[in-house]
Amino acid sequence: MLLESLDARQLVRILLVEDEKKLARSIKQQLERGGNFVEIAEDGIDAETKARQERYDIIILDLNLPKKSGLDVLRDLRAASYTTPVLILTALEGVDHRIEGLRIGADDYLAKPFDSGELVARIEAVLRRCGFSRTAVLRAADLTMDVVRRTVERAGEKIPLSEKEFSLLEFLLRNKNQILTRKRLIEQIWGYKFETGTNIVDVYISYLRNALDKGFSRKLIHTMHGEGFILIDR
Ligand code: CA
Repeated sequence: MLLESLDARQLVRILLVEDEKKLARSIKQQLERGGNFVEIAEDGIDAETKARQERYDIIILDLNLPKKSGLDVLRDLRAASYTTPVLILTALEGVDHRIEGLRIGADDYLAKPFDSGELVARIEAVLRRCGFSRTAVLRAADLTMDVVRRTVERAGEKIPLSEKEFSLLEFLLRNKNQILTRKRLIEQIWGYKFETGTNIVDVYISYLRNALDKGFSRKLIHTMHGEGFILIDR
């Protein structure tokens, strides 16, 4: 069962160009948890090929790359009239590179090492400036989540949630009316490979139910036996 999901249409498509595998994986994981689609390119040539062939909403571009530098990739893309917004990732000491990057058409830059929250904020700022509007408020029935202010309310009452509960609920809301398997949830929210035997998803789903659905006749979170969980907004 795959029902129409309004929020799915606002999925941000991101090309992440980063040759440090571990860093790339952790950025990808974090951005996908927020409901984005992330593709990784590990060298400059691969990055340029992907950027020319696919449509992305934003490119996150490391400068020091194998095969072709980030600056050369950016210069060639701009010269060929590709206008996809670019956020440069660069080592702290690379001031000249940052200036050069902005001069040849990057939209912003972030110095490494960076805070993952700042990366998300910068991406959103670049997308806003480029006219991409992404709803900061997610809704289902009388539940609202403000992903910028990090608040959740049901029927006008504030509901305090832990960081993990918030991430899980955000993912359920961004994929509402779709069945999400335990495997998918554990990989998205906890970032590790699914092992049968763990009940962590069930535990957190029950925390969310207690926080959100308790006392309401209309339940939002449902268990689909043998399949997973679904947040229903209808
Ligand atoms: Ca690098």
